[in-house]
Formats: sequence, C-alpha cells, structure tokens
Amino acid sequence: MTPTQRKKKILVIYTGGTIGMKPSAKGLVPEKGYLTDKLNELLKYELSNEGMPDVTVVEYDPLIDSADMDIAKINKLAQDINQQRDNYDGFVVLHGTDTMAFTSSALSFMLINLDKPVIVTGSQLPFAQFRSDGKNNVFNALYIISHFDINEVCLFFNDKLMRGNRVTKYSTDGFDAFKSLNAESIVDVGVQIKLNPNYKPIDVTFPFRLRELEAQSIEFLFIYPGMDYQGIEKYLKSKPKVLVIMSYGIGNVPTVPDFQDRVKALMQAGVIVICCSQCAMGEMAMQSYEGGFMLQQSGALQSFSMTKEALVAKLQLILSNPSCFPDLLEAWNRPIAREF
Ligand code: ASP
Repeated sequence: MTPTQRKKKILVIYTGGTIGMKPSAKGLVPEKGYLTDKLNELLKYELSNEGMPDVTVVEYDPLIDSADMDIAKINKLAQDINQQRDNYDGFVVLHGTDTMAFTSSALSFMLINLDKPVIVTGSQLPFAQFRSDGKNNVFNALYIISHFDINEVCLFFNDKLMRGNRVTKYSTDGFDAFKSLNAESIVDVGVQIKLNPNYKPIDVTFPFRLRELEAQSIEFLFIYPGMDYQGIEKYLKSKPKVLVIMSYGIGNVPTVPDFQDRVKALMQAGVIVICCSQCAMGEMAMQSYEGGFMLQQSGALQSFSMTKEALVAKLQLILSNPSCFPDLLEAWNRPIAREF
C-alpha cells in the first residue's frame, strides 16, 4: 500500500494515565492541563513544517489513572468518537497502560464499521520525564494515521502498531509494555515505517453502529494444583453470568469429579462457563485432553486465541446487546472484530 498524501485531521482524546502524570505525595497522579499544553506546544513548533496532520487535543475532566476505568467511561469515550466521527480522519486516545488493552478491545467491538483509525497509546514514563517513551508513542501514532490507510482500533507502543483486541499488558516496567502474541503487528516503526504486507483494511459495507456496554457479572477462577475445589460452590450462590476458568495450557482442567461435578452443577444452574488458557500465547483446543474434553462435553466454551482483555470485552458486548446477539453461542464462536 502506498502511503496516502492528504493532510489528515486527527482528534487526540486525553483520558489520563502515566503519560500526563507528575509525582505527588501519593505517588504519580495526572496533572490537569500539563500534557495538553505540552503537546500543543510541540505540535506547533515541531510538526507544522513537516506536512504533519492538523491535530486537536481534548482533555477529559477528571483525568484518571486507568485503574479507575469503568463501563460508563468506556461508553463516553465511544460516544465522543461517534460524535466527532465525521469531523476527523482518525483518533488517538491517550490512556493509562494498566487497562489500555481492555479499552482498546472494548472500542474495537463497540465502534462497528467505523472505517477510521483509532490508536490507543500512552507511556511507561511520564511525558515530563527526560527519557519518556510518551513522545515516541504519540507522534508515531499521529504519523501512522496521517500516512497509512488503517481503519480499525489499534494500540501503539514501543514502535509497534498492534490490533487493539489482540494485545495484552506484558511488562510492568519495560518500554515494550504490550505484546500481540497471537497476531502479527500491523506496522513496525524504525528508520523506515513498515506496514505489514499481509494487512488488509476492514472491508466496510454496512453503516456505522455504536454498541454500548453494560456492566456484567463475569468472574475469573484461576486453577492450580492443591486448590480446594469446594470453593467453586460459592458461585452457585452468587450466580455470575459467566465464570471464566483460567485453565492449564491448551485448555485442560482436572478430570476428578470433585472439580468436574461442581463446574457441571454451575452450568446446570445457568452460569456460562468459558475456559481461557493461563498461557498468553497460542490457540486453545480444550478437547485435546480428557479434563477439557469432559468439560466441553458438559457445555463449557473456550476462548480460542483471544486475550483475556478481548474475552471480557466481547462478553460485555454480547451480554449487553442481546437483541443484536440473540444466539450467544453463535456470536461467541465467530470473530466479530478480528479478535481471533
Ligand atoms: N497507573 C497508570 C495507569 O494505568 C499506569 C500507566 O499509565 O502506565 O493509568
């Protein structure tokens, strides 16, 4: 694909995160106005002569640590992108890294047929710090939107543009904070900026639809040798809509009746059970071993090669929009936004 020429209009939506934080007595906290002013200054003096895009920065109030991200805030972000969808060629969302992959996953499912790029990014070191990775991440996101035809939700970090619903936070303190372990990166940045030759923009034939989310009761159960399986019975009382079992390897679970019968009882009580691997890389095939096979026969689903973040977002989407997804099983088993 040849890079496109026209000067693009990009909206930067700044939600919070380390990128705009400064030290305080309570640790790093977002500082109102600081990053927006800094970006506007840099954009004015550094970019105006380089044929770079027209950029508008909007700052949310309050700015948050992304640990405080919730359904209402994700819906607002998607609504804001929807409202501005005809006014801009693309969007950069500045976000804390802790829940960035949840938000990029959610947006990928909510902004159906957007046909424009949304790049979520942030940084591991605050912009205010000398060695910050923030400038590299933000400016490369802007550059990619202005020069390449990408029309989906992505996450940019450490010189890689990755699909927004295939990324997971991987490193607490490396600049390579995110990995896309089951999908190739879309763009690799170095001296040259290389678009993956296999990349194809989404073929958009239907009109845009915004699908909002509602909070859902999704519980996670991490299994381990020595676990007291009796604890599973508590879900019979709390009855979550979904219990995600963090399973071994390819989707294996214990074969013993103490485990199998209790999980089966949950399914009989109406809880949807989904097996997700404790491994971050690879495809699931829970039928490969007896334990997973037995649970699948009893009705448990599996998460294919989805990340945990995409799994949560896809469940939130499907469970929040039953009229669009009347058959949960059918919707779960097919990719909705290139998530597996
Ligand atoms: N705690 C921060 C946040 O997620 C971490 C970061 O941005 O890197 O908002």
